[in-house]
Amino acid sequence: MNKQKYNSKNGQTLIFFLVVLVIMFFAVIWVFDLHNILNTKSKIRNAGDSAAVMGARWQGISLNIMGDLNIMNAIAIADGDYATVDAISNIQVRLAFTGPLIGFDAAQQAGKNNGIFNNDEFTDYVFEHANIVRNQYTQQSPTTGNMLFAEPYPGAWDEYATMLESIASRGIAVGIDNAKFYTDVSYNHYLLMYEFYDAIAGQNWCWFYFHAMNLLETYNSYRNWGPLPVFTSFIPVNSEILGLQLSRRNTRLGNIAGQTSEDYSLAEHGRSLVNVQNSTNSFNWYCYSSGAWNSWSSFDIQSGFPATGTVKPQYDYTGADSATRIETDMERLTPGQDGEIVTNGVTWTSAAKAFGYLNDTETPCLYDLVIPAFHDVRLIPLDTSSTPYGGAFDLEWQRHINDHLPKYILYGTSGLTPGCYFCNQLRTWERGSFRNDGIDWLDDPDNVQSCTAPSSGGNRGGGTTRGH
Ligand SMILES: [Zn+2]
Repeated sequence: MNKQKYNSKNGQTLIFFLVVLVIMFFAVIWVFDLHNILNTKSKIRNAGDSAAVMGARWQGISLNIMGDLNIMNAIAIADGDYATVDAISNIQVRLAFTGPLIGFDAAQQAGKNNGIFNNDEFTDYVFEHANIVRNQYTQQSPTTGNMLFAEPYPGAWDEYATMLESIASRGIAVGIDNAKFYTDVSYNHYLLMYEFYDAIAGQNWCWFYFHAMNLLETYNSYRNWGPLPVFTSFIPVNSEILGLQLSRRNTRLGNIAGQTSEDYSLAEHGRSLVNVQNSTNSFNWYCYSSGAWNSWSSFDIQSGFPATGTVKPQYDYTGADSATRIETDMERLTPGQDGEIVTNGVTWTSAAKAFGYLNDTETPCLYDLVIPAFHDVRLIPLDTSSTPYGGAFDLEWQRHINDHLPKYILYGTSGLTPGCYFCNQLRTWERGSFRNDGIDWLDDPDNVQSCTAPSSGGNRGGGTTRGH
């Protein structure tokens, strides 16, 4: 009796011990998973940061060469050497594309040197894009007879497509998230706003209150949306990927900004530049595009977002920058439901920018003309970068815009694509009860009062869902 009791107790202890062991086993592999995730995150972070820096470094190098060529152009004009002027123009127009694409290639190397593997989806995307450049950009418009996008120089689209293919053929590990594809439509439509979908997913009625109150109150069917905006064709000056954000102006040098030759800090060339400034003939000059090179003060830095501290006057400018995206899968040891293997996606986005200055108080873009002035590269907060909401290499978002939305516009919920996060939000949006919940919530003045006004951060519509 006693012995049996002892045995039974022993058995219970054993079971307890086994349970603890099993728990510990899972705890250990869970911790290992956690460590693995953290380890992957640290690796991906280094890779992403160095890729962004590498992209920005090549932007800086390209800007400096562009500036050197502007100066050489002025000297050649002063010397009446028009063959050289012509040659410089030809080099500049190509440099605006090749310089950034070398940066795109170098960013891949930086990512791979830090242990990141090729991302097959990114690789396919760049190949697909090269194909679009080669076959669609060159198509003639039936109305004007011109190419969809006029070539910056003869044969440019074929050359550009070949460069993209050559980079993609070695595999793409790092996406450039602030790429501005010529076909990208502007974001003046709710269906093209990343925040619209996030507001639905998070039932963020305050977002609707500030940005889309009328839509929330009056919407009743997908037929309300009307057609999606179409892009207009133009003559590109900058590369789509890591573009330098420049404009080409055909004018007298003296018409560019209000500078004197001394302002260029180029005493040795002063005499010839003065002659060129006084010349009445127009030539091509590469200038900082006024839409892109602005003061950081358009961000609300005083309120501590998206960056803290003061900006030194000589560094107070936005403009060309480099934002990278790395997405990699990591297999978990902890089995998921029904014992299947679970993989977690780990994503890292970084941004960097080339910096320089003319002197202690003057930015390189104080005068419009590009001159060689970039000395350094720094990481910058992603929210101060030119990355659009979602990011150009967020392929799920791109697919949603390009493939899913046109069907939704035509067929409503039956046109939505299963499994797409954004289509799922539209399914929720289409439910009248969902929208009524929002209207009811916003009917309560206490609720409305709890909504904090968005900060005046540029044109980003306030706030952010990104953590860094
Ligand atoms: Zn979708």
